[in-house]
Amino acid sequence: MILTNKVRAVLKIYRKLEIDTGLFQSATGLSCKSGCGTCCSYPDIYATPLEFLPYAFHQYQTGKAEEKMELLKTEFSELKTCSLFSHRQLALGPGGCLDYEFRGLVCRVFGFSSMILKDGSHSLIACKILKEKHPAIFDHSENSLEKLQMAPVAANYYLPLASIDYELSEKQLPVNPAIIKALEYVLAYYCYRKKKR
Ligand code: SF4
Ligand code: SF4
Repeated sequence: MILTNKVRAVLKIYRKLEIDTGLFQSATGLSCKSGCGTCCSYPDIYATPLEFLPYAFHQYQTGKAEEKMELLKTEFSELKTCSLFSHRQLALGPGGCLDYEFRGLVCRVFGFSSMILKDGSHSLIACKILKEKHPAIFDHSENSLEKLQMAPVAANYYLPLASIDYELSEKQLPVNPAIIKALEYVLAYYCYRKKKR
């Protein structure tokens, strides 16, 4: 599959997830605490490079891919938190993400999707803040269990994502190395094609 098709395929999964998450949120009223970006400031966010392929492609299209990669490898090389997280941005947009539109799958599933446990029940992948804000959704009552079943199941998005590119999705990396790998992939792809021409 050529690069642009891979990017399109990833974005298609993201759009589907956005619709499914929206439906779940409308049905339950589940929403983040206003101005909260706590989950983006965690130091242990893991993602696959493929999740950030649309981000890397967008950086390439806007002529910023090399500069971003350089920054990640130098100034941000010791950074444990996501390099796209900004406290300043937190006041302006969702989650404090500098490139919210191109965030990874992990950023999209957290808080609003579920995993299926061995006993078949759905467990929401959520933070303490959401649990405290929406106790009725997490109180294990029949009503709450019914609502949780409406949550998009994360694996239903991870599996089709992995089928787009095995190599770029086989390994979960800390978020910044995952972004670097995605940028490297896009830059190498176009460098090779330019040389060929
Ligand atoms: S998922 Fe939780 S930690 Fe993350 S922004 Fe929403 S409320 Fe905050
Ligand atoms: S890419 Fe954006 S949404 Fe995802 S962890 Fe980083 S700052 Fe948060």
